[in-house]
Amino acid sequence: MSDVIRLLPEHVANQIAAGEVVQRPASVVKELMENSIDAGADTIKLLVKDAGKSLIQVIDNGVGMSHTDARMSFERHATSKIRTATDLYGIRTNGFRGEALASIAAVAHVEMRTRTGEDELGTKIIIQGSEIVSQEHISTPKGTSIAVKNLFFNIPARRNFLKSDKVEMRHIINEFQRVALAYPEISFHLYHNDSEIYHLPSGNRKQRIVQISGKKSEEKWIPLHEHTAIVNIEGFIGKPAFAKKIRGEQFFFVNKRFIKSPYLHHAVKNAYSGLIPEGRQPAYFIYLEIPPEKIDINIHPSKTEIKFEEEKEIYSLLLSAVKHSLGQYQATPALDFDRDPNLDLPYDYMKKKQASPPKIHVDRNFNPFKHKGPEPSWETLYQDTSIPASPVQNETSFPEDIPQDPEVAGNTIFPENEIQARHYNIISLQNKYLLTRIKSGIAVIHRRRAHERILYEGFLRKLTQGEVRGQKLLFPVKIPVSQKEKHLLEHIQSDMENCGFSYEMKDDELIVHTTPPLLPVEEVEQTLIAILSGENDELPGDSFSYTDYIAKLLAFSTSLHTGQSADEQEYQNLVDELFRCKEPHISPSGKPTYTILTVEQIDKLL
Ligand code: ADP
Ligand code: MG
Repeated sequence: MSDVIRLLPEHVANQIAAGEVVQRPASVVKELMENSIDAGADTIKLLVKDAGKSLIQVIDNGVGMSHTDARMSFERHATSKIRTATDLYGIRTNGFRGEALASIAAVAHVEMRTRTGEDELGTKIIIQGSEIVSQEHISTPKGTSIAVKNLFFNIPARRNFLKSDKVEMRHIINEFQRVALAYPEISFHLYHNDSEIYHLPSGNRKQRIVQISGKKSEEKWIPLHEHTAIVNIEGFIGKPAFAKKIRGEQFFFVNKRFIKSPYLHHAVKNAYSGLIPEGRQPAYFIYLEIPPEKIDINIHPSKTEIKFEEEKEIYSLLLSAVKHSLGQYQATPALDFDRDPNLDLPYDYMKKKQASPPKIHVDRNFNPFKHKGPEPSWETLYQDTSIPASPVQNETSFPEDIPQDPEVAGNTIFPENEIQARHYNIISLQNKYLLTRIKSGIAVIHRRRAHERILYEGFLRKLTQGEVRGQKLLFPVKIPVSQKEKHLLEHIQSDMENCGFSYEMKDDELIVHTTPPLLPVEEVEQTLIAILSGENDELPGDSFSYTDYIAKLLAFSTSLHTGQSADEQEYQNLVDELFRCKEPHISPSGKPTYTILTVEQIDKLL
């Protein structure tokens, strides 16, 4: 048999590559806009006709190309952006495969005009289905204009496959928005069939977000900041009250590149849990900066997936950053004072980084609400010893009003002398609510939920930062367990030991030897049963780790119950502690811990 293998002609190879790069008009928009950004343009214009089916033109004022480069740019694997394979690991530009222009030119009529700053005359090239039709010197402004006409003129199947103008235009606008959001310092225009769709002057991120998401949306956003060695997180997240039923404004950018990440999306959703109703979607524009060698991007030019080397850490840091911003917004002045930056890291993260053994004082007779005399204080038992409690105490205050933009907020509610005296005149209503006066009215605190929040954060901190030493039971508690429960107990044994539970399994019985401090003996069995049954329902999606779940259960079973009485000093401690929490406004099960009745609201009632 004669030889049958042949090399594909260049234009056929280009058409095949085009199938990957150019799926629809929006892909052309993305490639051309990204090239303009890489060329250092600060003004980029996009002109579209018939949803890109007749024309897509991008005009920039970037560096432009020389006569030779202009010709070269249409060759496959022609790129100015990398020279060696190792360059790949430090990629900071949008392109590097050198395929986009070659692919586009393989399936359309392309006209390029370009000029560099040094050259007096520029270049005009016309190329149709990879064939150069003409190349000449012309006079043209500095920068590059590329017009792509009659897309897929030579591949009827693809052309027929395009969706309605409305759908294709939607795709184009999506690409345009993603690029515009990533580069607020660049000014962008978009025209469709000669009418202006977007005119975006250069500005900062918040201005760009407001330009894109609508003029009235300014008050919708809470800023996000978290700087760590692994990742820098910046951006804006939507206030919970604005969460919508449809998934719309959810944007992640990594090193200025739009990406999709169901994994990180999950972290954000998790941070909102308990703050927005089921089925609503939080809006967010989140910008991550990660050292390029720690990510794996752009395996495929049109894909937006990305792989992170430190995926889990980024997840936790993002979750905590979003929670923190939401918390600050809900209770700004109370949380806005000098915080120990350690507080802002997720507990699990701190555990890994902190090797020193935890200092835990355990006093079995300790009542968290008895706070007088020489007994160990609440702080020494439950606060991380590295967090100074006293400076914080003096500044405890309520937020003036709940929905408040942290950028404009900053006022405390208690008059200064009141703060110093730390005396708030707290009234207890049926041992259920605590009422206290604030500047704008009355704060009504749900006592049990507030206490749960305090205990939960205390447990979580202790459980995740270091092992809690359990208290030995005088008589081991025995609980009958099923085969399935036994498996689960084995599976979670090390987590449980971190929490102070030590146990063994004999036949069909669980024998518990030690339990977390403060868990009353009579609650042990019930708590364990709750832990075992939790595996089936609440746990996997909602709570973010097993430790978290156990901390919640412990908080529930050790909190003051409605009806149990305590004295005013104890209530004051509770108020102090609540507002020192990371998320004072919600209980561990996601219910509000307090509300504010304003004077205006009271006026309306009378
Ligand atoms: P890549 O962007 O991956 O390098 P492209 O096919 O998109 O490949 O572009 C090829 C080359 O053409 C680029 O590397 C760049 O040197 C040049 N180029 C493309 N568009 C522009 C532009 N708007 N301004 C200046 N140079 C450009
Ligand atoms: Mg490119």
